[in-house]
Amino acid sequence: MVYNRAMKMMADTEHAISLIRKSSRIVALSGAGISTEAGIPDFRGPGGMWENEDLLRQLSASGFERSPAGFYRASVELFSTISRAEPTLAHRLLVHLEKIGKLDAVITQNIDGLHTAAGSTKVFEVHGTFRTGHCTKCGAPFDMAEFYSDIESGRLTVPVCLNCRAIIKPDVVLFEDPLPYQAWRGAVEAAENCDLMLVLGSSLVVYPAAELPMIAVHCGAPLVIVNLEATPYDRQATVAIHARLGEFAKAALAAFS
Ligand code: NAD
Repeated sequence: MVYNRAMKMMADTEHAISLIRKSSRIVALSGAGISTEAGIPDFRGPGGMWENEDLLRQLSASGFERSPAGFYRASVELFSTISRAEPTLAHRLLVHLEKIGKLDAVITQNIDGLHTAAGSTKVFEVHGTFRTGHCTKCGAPFDMAEFYSDIESGRLTVPVCLNCRAIIKPDVVLFEDPLPYQAWRGAVEAAENCDLMLVLGSSLVVYPAAELPMIAVHCGAPLVIVNLEATPYDRQATVAIHARLGEFAKAALAAFS
């Protein structure tokens, strides 16, 4: 039984690698599962943030409006985890596929900035990023790292704009917020034009991001899903692999180095 599962995983990984070999306009859609091996918890995996209702309420747009201080208190630990994290092997796989001319773009639901930190150059962050922020009044941009470090050490409760003293909000899409228009447009166009979509580490239950693999499939691209658990789109996938991304990335990097 264990042997059969291992054999199937190897065969599926080989199939995925053969699809990558034939492709030159790959688009990857990543989710929180690509960063768990960097120590950032996902939402819906065991022990994920989804189990903490208070935290989720505070990290919503209405939670931010109700209490910016509560929002910053609730998000400081996540920010500190994100800012210490290093890209994983799977992030590096995508950088490598871009360098050898196979990958066109990365679309990510993640807010941790790890694709850019790894070296990917075309990244659509459809849920924004925690790394930067902007003034809620004049729109001035800010790097969030110093503010969060002051919040962590108790020197600051809420960051305010250096120009107009209004509250600063991280550039992250909170529950109830709309998606950033440019990033979403770019993501849809990339999905429409790819010749292979690779979904890495997403439960594919958050919309509209979960529509992107079907856009690719309807435009004729094969779909490869690599995720620890089954997703609602496994049946539409050419290959669905239930494995750790670290294992998959190691095999794929070996095949293309
Ligand atoms: P999700 O938590 O809903 O799903 C993550 C999936 O990844 C799970 O199905 C899990 O089984 C799988 N997974 C976990 N570790 C894995 C591994 N090592 N290898 C393979 N698969 C693994 O995440 P989602 O689909 O991205 O949607 C949730 C939302 O959570 C997104 O909007 C995102 O913004 C937000 N989020 C982001 C981060 C981050 O930036 N790193 C972290 C938590 C949540």
